[in-house]
Amino acid sequence: ELQHFDVVVIGSGGAGLAAAIQAHDDGAKVLIIEKMPTIGGNTIKASVGMNAAESIFQKIKGIKDDRTLFYQETLKGGKFINNQKLLHSFIQDTPIAIDWLADKGIELSDITITGGMSIDRTHRPADRSAVGGYLISGLLKNVVSRGIEVMLDTEVVDISYENDTPSAVKIKDDKGEISTLKAKSVVVATGGFSANAKMVEQYKPELKGFVTTNHPGATGCGIKLLTEIGADTIDLEQIQIHPTVEQKTSYLISESIRGGGAILVNHFGHRFCNEMDTRDHVSQCIISLPQKNAWIIFDDQVRLNNKASEEYIEQGLAIVADSLIDLAHKINIEESALEQTLKRYNQWVSKGKDEEFGRETALRYQLEQAPFYAILIAPGIHHTMGGVVINQEGSVLDKTRYPIRGVFAAGEVTGGVHGANRIGGNAIADIIVFGIRAGSQAAHYAQNKR
Ligand code: ADP
Repeated sequence: ELQHFDVVVIGSGGAGLAAAIQAHDDGAKVLIIEKMPTIGGNTIKASVGMNAAESIFQKIKGIKDDRTLFYQETLKGGKFINNQKLLHSFIQDTPIAIDWLADKGIELSDITITGGMSIDRTHRPADRSAVGGYLISGLLKNVVSRGIEVMLDTEVVDISYENDTPSAVKIKDDKGEISTLKAKSVVVATGGFSANAKMVEQYKPELKGFVTTNHPGATGCGIKLLTEIGADTIDLEQIQIHPTVEQKTSYLISESIRGGGAILVNHFGHRFCNEMDTRDHVSQCIISLPQKNAWIIFDDQVRLNNKASEEYIEQGLAIVADSLIDLAHKINIEESALEQTLKRYNQWVSKGKDEEFGRETALRYQLEQAPFYAILIAPGIHHTMGGVVINQEGSVLDKTRYPIRGVFAAGEVTGGVHGANRIGGNAIADIIVFGIRAGSQAAHYAQNKR
């Protein structure tokens, strides 16, 4: 006797968990299937936060924001190739998604900023820790309290689509055994393909040999599952490299460190870009340096205001020094050059204006409080903007751009929202907004089939 579900959610990252919770709350019998041994996907590694404009927490903090401005800045960051309809509806729902999370005990009440944004709109946990772990553990609590079933170590290898509707999914367990489950609708939330070196190289050959920041499950198999039943894809060649990745460990050094006041310097001890520019620009500046890497430098005040930085120090990724001169010696930079650079940067902080590189945001503090820290970084493959085509409801579209009935997708497996460059903090917003929509739509579709 085959097991029956209304909604099968494929993938247990943020998009999948949000979809499952919403589908359950809309009355469906839900199953989550995850191919890895653990919950959380790549979402659990997310660092900086979740962007939203006109949110309750911005209002509490007195931050005046405007969804139209958020839309314009994201469109510009995405080089104007974003699907504008999708982007617009996404931006509109960001404050609602913040409320949806808060309602489930997941409060993103502290706010910072990321590259390409002009206003503090990146929401993160109150203790300023990385968003991913907090978000996944909060979502998981909600999954557990609702009694939603989860299968780990199980990969969906096929979606059966018959008589113009999904009927079942074929699954493979960790021993390689194949079985079938009945499903009335599916939500594909399988994430991106940044950890699939072959696929990355196929779509963007110049990224051959780059390290990846992603978990090993980010292999893009959802794109295959969906194209096999007729889904269209978009922007697969739009692959983002993140500028600040520690190369020996592939550890992502969060954008919130720069957002909290850190700077980048080259091996001459000079700044070389606006650190708060978008990820593609900052990455390009680093790749253009002769060594193709750079130092991210911060002081103790930046550390105190950023929990992630403590992790880097504990992990031994940062070089720590009691004085700036000592730091210069340790990282083999001319001490007077580094001193000059910080003196100059501190001037811009006190003026509130960077006259050298035009950094306009996150000129937080003068960097002067010992100890000082330096981490050697270079870009790494981080996010795949492209994916399957969806509409505003989260329906997957076929090559004629017509919805494939009963098949929904959310999160990094989809393309269109981010265009040619994703803004930091927009991935988490994307997975929650579209996770909720896909879950809700899938539940309604399944119930109409009862
Ligand atoms: P998002 O940010 O879009 O939620 P994540 O990368 O966080 O994406 O999560 C996607 C999850 O989907 C990962 O945990 C990954 O292991 C899982 N996954 C990918 N492909 C499959 C598959 N075919 N079957 C089951 N789980 C899958």
